[in-house]
Amino acid sequence: MKPDWHSAKRIIIKIGSSLLIDEEGRLKDKWLSSLIEDVAKLKGEGREIVLVSSGAIGLGRKRLGLPAGALKLEESQAAAAVGQVTLAHAYEERLKAHDLIAAQVLVTLGDTEKRRRYLNARGTIKTLLKVGAVPVVNENDTVATSEIRYGDNDRLAARVASMMTADLLIVLSDIDGLYTAPPGSAKGGEHLSQIAEITPEIEAMAGAVGSDYGSGGMITKILAAKIATRAGVHMLIASGTALNPVSALFEGGKASWFHAQGNPVTSRKRWIAGGLETRGELIIDAGAARALAAGKSLLPAGIKNLSGTFSRGDVVIVRDESGREVARGLCAYDFVEAEKIIGRHSNDIARILGYKGRAAMIHRDDMVLL
Ligand code: GLU
Repeated sequence: MKPDWHSAKRIIIKIGSSLLIDEEGRLKDKWLSSLIEDVAKLKGEGREIVLVSSGAIGLGRKRLGLPAGALKLEESQAAAAVGQVTLAHAYEERLKAHDLIAAQVLVTLGDTEKRRRYLNARGTIKTLLKVGAVPVVNENDTVATSEIRYGDNDRLAARVASMMTADLLIVLSDIDGLYTAPPGSAKGGEHLSQIAEITPEIEAMAGAVGSDYGSGGMITKILAAKIATRAGVHMLIASGTALNPVSALFEGGKASWFHAQGNPVTSRKRWIAGGLETRGELIIDAGAARALAAGKSLLPAGIKNLSGTFSRGDVVIVRDESGREVARGLCAYDFVEAEKIIGRHSNDIARILGYKGRAAMIHRDDMVLL
């Protein structure tokens, strides 16, 4: 069943660079004005809107006259510093024309991945929504380095949607959704309008067609869909190329819908589920998988194998013997200790490690089932 999005109160809209900037590197004025018209309409209906906008690097490189092709890290950082000013100004002007207030929010990876900073960022955006402003979010590309960055605004937008407990994430792109094969290819790709679950087949489709789709590609969109849907947020991918792209969607325009999963979980669990930085993996046996499904904690005895170099409190992925990801959680031991106690009874932990640690490798309060 198609999710009812007319009732969505808090909506995140992700805007890709290719929609905002033309081939000459100039801002598409008319298009942006039409998007903001849509935003004003939604705000007028009492909804809360957060925009996640790309475009800083694209606009800045034009202003600085940087050559075509891949930029060096320092060049893209410089381009972002210049382009973000233009971008923020463009939103501010257009929102102002509708008596709306623009608020610039620049985030780095740690702002969503570190719990304390996550709570801080969430608090700021919450306040902005409360006072009626329209937050315009982007990655702080000027200080982001290649190791410490989201790198694509698809996942950034999903993380923001999860953080803000949004009802809906709209990813506006230059393609109107997910296809079973590249549109127009020999295999004749079919458009998928409803995706109730992100299965390995769905992931494989994105993998196969990804590189043909320009900028963020379909792979990062599927990763974003996983983050959003696990956090209880519906996500849709739609083409934003025409004017008034969001109104068109409300009137039944073409899109791929990814349905929100399961029960709403606590904020802490949403943060765990959507984490971008996982540090290790635990492979569990069938008995442990059944115990987790029944709501129990993960004990060392049920763990067959592990990989990664995680510390205590890091997010790790839990897989069953077939390799399927069944859960994620905060590990109570670091990988050196964990290695020593897997497969062992919890009563033996004190003897093996020389201190009395926790009975569970991942306590159920620290775990999200997938
Ligand atoms: N943050 C980048 C920018 O504003 C865009 C990243 C993306 O395209 O996903 O230029």
